Amino acid sequence: MLSYQHLYHAGNLADVHKHALLATTLDYLTRKDKPLTYVETHAGRGLYDLTAPEAMKTGEAAKGIAIAANWFPATHPYSRALAATRDQRGPAAYPGSPLIAGHLLRETDSIHLCELHPQEHAALEYASAPFGAKVYHEDGLAKALSICPPTPRRGMALIDPSYEVKTDYETIPRVVGQLHRKWNVGIIYLWYPILREGYHKPMLAELRAIQPEALVHEVRFPPVRDGHRMEGSGMVMINPPFGIETETKRLTGLFRKLG
Ligand code: SAM
Repeated sequence: MLSYQHLYHAGNLADVHKHALLATTLDYLTRKDKPLTYVETHAGRGLYDLTAPEAMKTGEAAKGIAIAANWFPATHPYSRALAATRDQRGPAAYPGSPLIAGHLLRETDSIHLCELHPQEHAALEYASAPFGAKVYHEDGLAKALSICPPTPRRGMALIDPSYEVKTDYETIPRVVGQLHRKWNVGIIYLWYPILREGYHKPMLAELRAIQPEALVHEVRFPPVRDGHRMEGSGMVMINPPFGIETETKRLTGLFRKLG
């Protein structure tokens, strides 16, 4: 039974980290005319209202994108996706990763989105309809393995689990390895939370053994409230585009200023 709902956390500092790297990567990929495929295994609902009671209750966006928005100049692809979402869906609208992809990709690109939670899936279908995305109410990891290597072969997969199931930390690296073997030219990003307990550490060790050349980028930030277990955000990047390190270095500096 899935209980995680990203609406409580949309626009937090982990989203800022993940979405900035995603937007930068898609921007690099779309500099070439060639069409590409975007696959997302854990898509969420795609569109969030930062004034919804759930978002207001945690205050995570207020301590996230509300303070980080000025880190990104108007020309930055993350800013462009934020602005396009607000223009089309209202001033409190925040794009999840599927909408960031929807805004930055082109009609010739293919978008595949998986979401298992019934309400989140229904909301995702509605939010992503303008982009012509294929939306699946299926397990995202199994679906990604079934459609990869995709057509077009060029492109990326984002794996952004909620880590609700403890065994995720064991199964996900194995699936990432399988996916990389099936789609060796694919860019694969795996997001993970940095929790006080350090659950991500054995997962990272396994991923480094599978793919020693993967780039790992982590940022730290103060817990959003007393007792909150998340102290940072990490991204494993397999086959990242040339140039991504300019953005990872820039983000490292910006997050450091948070103290
Ligand atoms: N990627 C989204 C974003 O950045 O806007 C947020 C996704 S949220 C962290 C994780 C989502 O994965 C939740 O909506 C949850 O319902 C969904 N989920 C959990 N297990 C899943 C599975 N096995 N397959 C597909 N979706 C799953």
